[in-house]
Amino acid sequence: MSAQIIDGKAIAQEIKAQLKAKVEIIRSFGKRAPCLAVVLVGNDPASEVYVGHKKKACAEVGIESRSLMLPADTSQEMLEQHLRQLNADDGVDGILLQLPLPKHLSSQQAIDLISPAKDVDGLTPISQGLLVWRRTGHVSCTPLGVMELIHRTGFKLSGSRAVVIGRSVLVGAPMATLLGNAGATVTAINSRTVDPAAITRQADLLVVAAGSMRLVRGDWIKPGAVVIDVGIHRDGQKLCGDVHFEEAVKVASWITPVPGGVGPMTIVSLLRNCLTAYESRSS
Ligand code: NAD
Repeated sequence: MSAQIIDGKAIAQEIKAQLKAKVEIIRSFGKRAPCLAVVLVGNDPASEVYVGHKKKACAEVGIESRSLMLPADTSQEMLEQHLRQLNADDGVDGILLQLPLPKHLSSQQAIDLISPAKDVDGLTPISQGLLVWRRTGHVSCTPLGVMELIHRTGFKLSGSRAVVIGRSVLVGAPMATLLGNAGATVTAINSRTVDPAAITRQADLLVVAAGSMRLVRGDWIKPGAVVIDVGIHRDGQKLCGDVHFEEAVKVASWITPVPGGVGPMTIVSLLRNCLTAYESRSS
C-alpha cells in the first residue's frame, strides 16, 4: 500500500486563483486593494526569505504589501510605536510581525498590541481566545491551512480520533483546538509524553508539529491514517519534515510531502486572512 499524496502546492494554487478573482472584483468597483503590513526587525536571513515569500504571494493575488524593515537594535518602545501606527492606519488591513524577534525584545508584549481585527497571523491572546470560544476571529495560518488539507482528503473529523504532536502557540495549540471544535477527540502530545508512539498508533488523523526531524517513524502510524507533517528541516541539500516520509507513505492512507504540503497552505491562509480582515473592516 502507498498513501495518496496531499498536494498542498496545487491546492494552494487553486485557492490563490480564487482569492485573485475576489480581489479583482473588489478593484473593479474602484475600491482600494487589501493591504498587509509586514514588520521585520533585524536581518535574520531565514526571516528575510519568509517575508519575501509572503510579499510575492500577496503580489500574485493583488494584495498590496508594505514592509517595515527595522534595524536589529530597535527598542521595544520604538517597535510598539510602529505597531500602534499600523493599528491606527485605515489603509492597513493586516499586520504581520515576523518572528522570532531579536532577543532583547519581548514578542509577547509586541503581539499583545496588535489590533485583533488586523491580527492576520491569529497570534494575539484575543484571537486565540475567540478560537477557544468558537467565535469569529483570525485563526493562525498554519493550522488553518492544515484544516483545508484535511477537508480535501474527505476525512470525517467528527467522531474521529486525532493526535497532535506539539503544543506551540503558533501551531500545535490552535491545531488541537480547531480539531476539537470540528468534533474530533484530540490528544495533544508534548516532549514529556511517555511512549508517544503508543498514542499515535491509535490516531485516525495525525498532525505532527514538533520541530524534530523524522521523529515519527512508520510504526508510529495506524494503518490507513491521514498524516499531516508540519515540520520543515534542511537535511543537506534536501528538505524534510517531522515524519519519516519513506516509511510513513507505506502505512498511511493520505500524507503531506515536505516540501509541497503544509508550507504553501500557510502562506495561502495568510492571504485568506488578509482578505477576510479587509472585508470585515470595510463592511
Ligand atoms: P515550536 O518549537 O515552537 O514547538 C514545538 C512543540 O513540539 C513544542 O510544544 C514542544 O514541546 C513539542 N515537541 C518538541 N519535541 C517533541 C517531541 N520529541 N515529542 C513531542 N513533542 C515535542 O515549533 P512550531 O513553531 O510549533 O513548529 C513546529 C515545526 O513546524 C518546526 O519544524 C517548524 O519549522 C515547522 N513549521 C512549519 C510551518 C509551515 O508552514 N510548514 C509553519 C510553522 C512551523
